[in-house]
Amino acid sequence: MCIRKRVFCQHLLGLFLVILLTAEGHSFPLQNEDVISVHHNMSVTLTPATHELAATDQIDLEVSARVKSVRFTLAQTLQVESILLGEGSASQVASFTTVRIPNSSAQRIVVMLPEEHGRKVTLAWVYRGPINDPPKEPRHLRFVTPSETAGHIGLEGVYLSSESQWYPDAEGSFSTYRVTTHIPEGWTVVGSGQKVAENLTAGIVSSTWIVQERSEAFTLVANKFVTKSREWKASTTGQRVEIQTHFLSDNADLGDEYLDATAQYLDAYVQILGDYPFEKFAVVENFFASGLGMPSFTLLGSGSIKRHYTQPYALGHEIVHSWIGNSVFNRDGHGNWVEGLTTYLANYYWHELVQDDRQALEQRRMMLQGYNLYVRPEDDYAVSQFFRKHDEKDNAIGYQKAAFVFHLLRREIGDEPFWRGLKTFVSQYRNQPADWESIEKVFSRESGQNLRWFFEQWVEQPGAPTVSLGDASARRVREDGGQEIWQLTIRIQQSEKPYRFAMPIRVVMEDTIEVRSVMLNPSRVNIVELVLPTAPLWVELDPEMMMFRRLARRQLPAVLNSYVTDSSKTVMRAFSDPASPLEQIVSRIEAYEPTDSQRTKVVALEGHALPREGSVLILADADQGAAVHSVVLESCGDRAALKDTGFRIDGQSYEGPTMAVLFSCHRANIPGSVMTVLYGVTSDAVAKVARLLFYYGWHSYVIFQDGAVKKREIWPGQEDTMEVRIDDLS
Ligand SMILES: [Zn+2]
Repeated sequence: MCIRKRVFCQHLLGLFLVILLTAEGHSFPLQNEDVISVHHNMSVTLTPATHELAATDQIDLEVSARVKSVRFTLAQTLQVESILLGEGSASQVASFTTVRIPNSSAQRIVVMLPEEHGRKVTLAWVYRGPINDPPKEPRHLRFVTPSETAGHIGLEGVYLSSESQWYPDAEGSFSTYRVTTHIPEGWTVVGSGQKVAENLTAGIVSSTWIVQERSEAFTLVANKFVTKSREWKASTTGQRVEIQTHFLSDNADLGDEYLDATAQYLDAYVQILGDYPFEKFAVVENFFASGLGMPSFTLLGSGSIKRHYTQPYALGHEIVHSWIGNSVFNRDGHGNWVEGLTTYLANYYWHELVQDDRQALEQRRMMLQGYNLYVRPEDDYAVSQFFRKHDEKDNAIGYQKAAFVFHLLRREIGDEPFWRGLKTFVSQYRNQPADWESIEKVFSRESGQNLRWFFEQWVEQPGAPTVSLGDASARRVREDGGQEIWQLTIRIQQSEKPYRFAMPIRVVMEDTIEVRSVMLNPSRVNIVELVLPTAPLWVELDPEMMMFRRLARRQLPAVLNSYVTDSSKTVMRAFSDPASPLEQIVSRIEAYEPTDSQRTKVVALEGHALPREGSVLILADADQGAAVHSVVLESCGDRAALKDTGFRIDGQSYEGPTMAVLFSCHRANIPGSVMTVLYGVTSDAVAKVARLLFYYGWHSYVIFQDGAVKKREIWPGQEDTMEVRIDDLS
């Protein structure tokens, strides 16, 4: 039957293409608009040794009576053996056509429905084939791009996501699922939703999974896991959720640490976002590097799990995705707001929540710095145009700037309406797609303000304000009651396109310091008047980094990423041993160079003067510690001193063979460029650091002991301050 149908398909193909082309824009539904609901009832046998799956999928559709055909996508490697229409003895063979989708690993299968049919239509599919796309190494120096595979069934593990197209997906649909998997004994399957049954027969483990709420995709992973689980209960609502870890044996003893962290995040985020949307949350070890949040579970690479990846930006981020992204979805083709909001709530807001002001400030700085370093004005695009990240620039716009937009929104409308609006948004759009427009609608309604200007300015337009202090003067005036006060006049300039926003200004007075927020109009010059109790000495723009704006490179703290993003770069070898781990850094940089025109120069420190322009990365071992010391003196001053047995950073000495340091200073007399030094007292001290060097890009110095971070700090960039001129001393 299969062969006959395939021959038939070949004949029909040409005819079908004609129908498709003429039908566009007419009654033929291209997006399955008339498909009202979809339920999959699947049985899948997975054979890791041969990369194969064999499946049946009974798809129950609810469609309007005028639907003549339904369009599905399926991986090209999978062969459809048959599709039956209807159930049991009343079923009949359905005719279908197959079209290869250009530039895609999927095929489109269009199933024709009978002339007359009811609202409920059942299609029983039988299909099989291999899914064998082994994960590739991520292509960036520091950047995990999780989708370096479309899906894989193999002895190292099974990973089947929506991108794998491993079951017939009615295009544009949200479905419910009942999935039974069969896999050899010793393997454990983890799927979306709730596991309702599991048994072992004749060396095959069968487990059944149910997803009752409509969802974009069913994801399935499998491996030889060691499983830990416990019940989590919400203190406020009593909601119960099963939390689990599925780790490979090497990491199995880390289970409790991840379960504890999961419970802590759930405790916090149910209060902000409402009930947790699923029956379980599982942390699942993956056989390739990933940080992927799926409905009811998250997939983390082995290396991440080993490195205690329980931080807010890591596990916390994936847990927030349970609500943002996996319960409320991104609307296809409308821009991705999910990552910005998740980053705001997890990577940033967690620190406010646990009242760690220092870390919260640090996160705001990193969001600002990420945008300012990685997004050149000429390459900028609007937050609404972000779909998914391919590089650091996308990350800076779609994650960092978008996260900051939520911070600005919160500051604009106030805490209470913001948090109320967020809860309303999550419950109103549960199991539905949402876009930036939906967000604007909900927050406008909850705050009672027309926020059109806000979304137009921050979401729909690229860029950020460029603000500077033009002048600050003060004079003493006598109030009606005879009391003396000070009137401070500040001229604030906006170059480029002017924005409307509230700008915090720190005023340093003789005996006190105040931060005032002033509303700036979208004009090039704003004159701001403040009344103060005592004489002002200094003013400073946005000392706490509450505003999103363009900053010059010299205004930002010097960090390794300042070097990375400079258009002119030189690596200086300050070591002579060719077997040094520092040499591996040089090779890696050379391997990842984007184009010839931007090639990094690599020279030996010995016998070469520092380049006259651009940033410099000096890789140094103890033999040349003294030579490096004299070179860095001009840029770093007394912040850093190197000697062969150790180093002194920020006034503190570190001694011994296990110590290494990475530090960056702005280059003296070369504005915007930095000098970064990686120095290890011994080869061993620097070996581990060398491998992960580019993950330490956001601090001015990082001290390592035995390769582990002992301390990291920021040296602030040039501050936006101005002395206040006293005009009238009467
Ligand atoms: Zn994310």
